[in-house]
Amino acid sequence: MTIFSKIISGEIPSYKILENDKFFAFLDINPLVEGHVLVIPKTEVDKLYDLDDTYLSEMLVFAKPLCHALESAMNCVRVGLSVIGLEVPHAHLHLLPINEMDDTNF
Ligand code: 5GP
Repeated sequence: MTIFSKIISGEIPSYKILENDKFFAFLDINPLVEGHVLVIPKTEVDKLYDLDDTYLSEMLVFAKPLCHALESAMNCVRVGLSVIGLEVPHAHLHLLPINEMDDTNF
């Protein structure tokens, strides 16, 4: 079981932002910028591009209103979407409220 599956089940506490039957969004424990959110599928898949097309599309549709909400809440010029995946082998999208490219090194 991945650390993110333990977050979904509540075994590991997190600051939940939004959840539905397929996806879970929560604050990153070690934020690159203020308001750094992670969106994860409830199914355990290592890489984002291993999700089937429908699931991947639904993940973006789930993330879309979150991006708009973050943009307003954080008063930023855009929310960067990033896929890194070096630390946790459970597909995830980083939502990063940013104002300048030099906000951080991501
Ligand atoms: P990546 O796998 O894309 O390199 O990074 C994984 C991200 O998950 C990191 O930004 C890291 O801070 C975050 N992360 C790792 N473990 C936990 C955790 O237990 N709780 C939360 N909220 N975030 C975590």
